[in-house]
Amino acid sequence: MQFLTHNASARLPTQYGDFDLHVFHDNRTNVEHIALTCGDIMRSPQPLVRVHSECLTGDVFASTRCDCGEQLHHAQQLIQEHGHGLVLYLKNHEGRGIGLSNKMRAYALQDQGLDTVEANEALGLPVDGRSYEAAAEMLAFFEINTVRLLTNNSAKRSALETLGITVHQQVPLLTQPTAENLKYLQTKSAKLGHIIPDLMG
Ligand SMILES: [Zn+2]
Repeated sequence: MQFLTHNASARLPTQYGDFDLHVFHDNRTNVEHIALTCGDIMRSPQPLVRVHSECLTGDVFASTRCDCGEQLHHAQQLIQEHGHGLVLYLKNHEGRGIGLSNKMRAYALQDQGLDTVEANEALGLPVDGRSYEAAAEMLAFFEINTVRLLTNNSAKRSALETLGITVHQQVPLLTQPTAENLKYLQTKSAKLGHIIPDLMG
């Protein structure tokens, strides 16, 4: 691996079933990324993979401003039902890569009427500053180069394909829109190329 070092692994029983948690240190950014694996992934020809961008507010505090936590847990559930797969949890992706402080600044602007894209632009920040080399390296560590990707985000699919990962299938992760996140989901669908069937038509 070029940027990552595998540091540790252990079994992680969860509400959804048993996973193994693997920690990778990113030598470029000093953060620790996580691969949560289920089953014998090295023998699975096209494992289900969720490449999840850290969202502290959604993943930990159950924020209803976005659907990240719901997507993460839904992915864990689907992977368990399927019997094998991985969640790659990328720790430097908070707020589509702008960090937690800037995400909160963007939220404050959104409360004044800007959408998620306009708010980043008003702050002079990229609309999407994420890169996926760490995800590609973790997949390489497990000798996986073909995946069935759990995502609504076609840009994520393209980013992985650019890094040499074959996306055999894009599997949507449907969540229930709420009053708080409806505008956010509509903006992701209209401006960021997300496929969110409930909002189409
Ligand atoms: Zn989120």
